[in-house]
Amino acid sequence: MKILVQKFGGTSVATQERREMIADKVETALKNGFFPVVVVSAIGRCGDPYATDTLINLAKAVGCETNPREMDLLMSCGEIISSVVMVNTLRKRGYESVALTGAQAGIITDDSFGDAEVLRVETKNIYKYIDKNIIPVITGFQGVDENGDITTLGRGGSDVSGSIIGEALNAEAVEIYTDVEGVMTADPRIVPDARVMNTIFYNEVFQMAEYGANVIHPRAVEVAMRSNIPMLIKNTMSDSPGTLITNYDRNRKYKENKKDKIITAVAQIGKRTQVRILYDGSAGEYEDDSILFDMIANNSISLDMINVYPDSKVFIIDDSQLSKLQEILGRRSISYEYKRNCSKVTIIGNKMRGVPGVMAKVIRALSKYNIEILQTSDSHTTISCLIDSEYVNQAVNALHQEFELGKISEK
Ligand code: ADP
Ligand code: MG
Repeated sequence: MKILVQKFGGTSVATQERREMIADKVETALKNGFFPVVVVSAIGRCGDPYATDTLINLAKAVGCETNPREMDLLMSCGEIISSVVMVNTLRKRGYESVALTGAQAGIITDDSFGDAEVLRVETKNIYKYIDKNIIPVITGFQGVDENGDITTLGRGGSDVSGSIIGEALNAEAVEIYTDVEGVMTADPRIVPDARVMNTIFYNEVFQMAEYGANVIHPRAVEVAMRSNIPMLIKNTMSDSPGTLITNYDRNRKYKENKKDKIITAVAQIGKRTQVRILYDGSAGEYEDDSILFDMIANNSISLDMINVYPDSKVFIIDDSQLSKLQEILGRRSISYEYKRNCSKVTIIGNKMRGVPGVMAKVIRALSKYNIEILQTSDSHTTISCLIDSEYVNQAVNALHQEFELGKISEK
C-alpha cells in the first residue's frame, strides 16, 4: 500500500471550513491511489481557545512552568482536541477514521520534556488501523517516554511528527500543509515580492529553517533527507502544486540550470543579544577560558557567531538567556558589553560556494540603507549578518532585491 503522510498546521485546522478543505486533501490522496495518514497540529494560533500558546499561558498562570512533566501533559491537549475534531469531519464524509495520540501511535521519545527527541516509532498500532482501511489522524508535536509519560517535541514539532511517521511507515511522500503556497524566497510577511519555489534541495531548505524560516522545522527536513522521502510544502487553501523538497539523485530530471541563481533565499532570526567579553590584560584573568565556556554550556546557554580575538570574545545568544549569562559573568567579575534586540539575517544558496564577490554584494545592499553590520559569519552555503532588529525588514528586502530573488526580477 502506498502511504501518504499529510500534516496540517494550526491555521489549517482552525475552522470547520478549513477542516473541510483538509477532508478534500484526504479525498484527493485516496483518489490518487494513496492511503492517507493524517497528522494535525493544535487548533489556531495564540488567543484561540485550544492553541498551544493559549495552553502555555494557562500553565504559566497556574505556575506550572516549573513542572516540565505536567507542562507537557497540558500542552499535548491541543493536538488531542484537534485530532478528535478532524476525525469527526472525516467520518461525516463517510470515511472511517481514528484519532491517535502520540503514545497510541507508538512515538517513543527520550524524557527531555518540552524538547523531546524521538527514539523510535512502534508502528503496530498504526498498521492495525491502516490494515482495516481506517484513516489514522495522529496528534503532532508529542510522543511518550519509556516511563509512559507524555512528552512534547518543541515548537514546530508537528512537522517532525509528520516526517518521523513518514519514515516509519516508509511513505511515498510527506505533505506539509500550511497557510502559504510553498517554500518562498523569503518570509512573505516581510517581503511582499517573495516568490514560491517549485523545487528546493533538502540541504537548502534545512539551512533556511535553521536560520529562521519557520515554514518547516529543520529536524523534519533532516529526517526526510536521511530516509530520502520526498517532502512537499503546500497550501491547504489552494490546489497549487507547492514546493517539492528533494535531492539531486532522487529527482534526476532536475538538471543544473546555468540561469540558476547563486542565492536561493533570505531568512532572519530576531531576539538576539550580542555579547562582547573584554580582556583588559590583567594577569591571569583568562588563564583558562575553557572554564568560562564550560560554565556557559553547563547552564544550557547556546552561543552562536562566536569570534575570538586577542583582546575580546564576541558571540550572540538568545535575548531570553542574557540574565543567566550576566549572572555567570558577574560571579567571575568578567567585564563585558552587550547589545540587545539584534537580528541575524542570512542569505542561503548551494551555488555560492567559491563564487567571489558575494560578500561585497551583501555589504552594498545593506549600506544602501545605512544598515550597520555588527558582525558576520559564513559557511560554504550561507552568509549571516547581525544587525539592529529595528532594520530587519529593510535588510531582508534589500538582500532579496540585491540578489534578484523576487517575482519582479523574474519578469
Ligand atoms: P503552520 O502552523 O502551518 O505550521 P507556520 O506559521 O509554522 O505554519 O509556518 C508558516 C509560515 O511560515 C508562513 O505563514 C510564513 O509567514 C512563514 N515563513 C517564514 N519564512 C518563509 C519562507 N521562506 N517561505 C514560506 N513561508 C515562510
Ligand atoms: Mg509550523
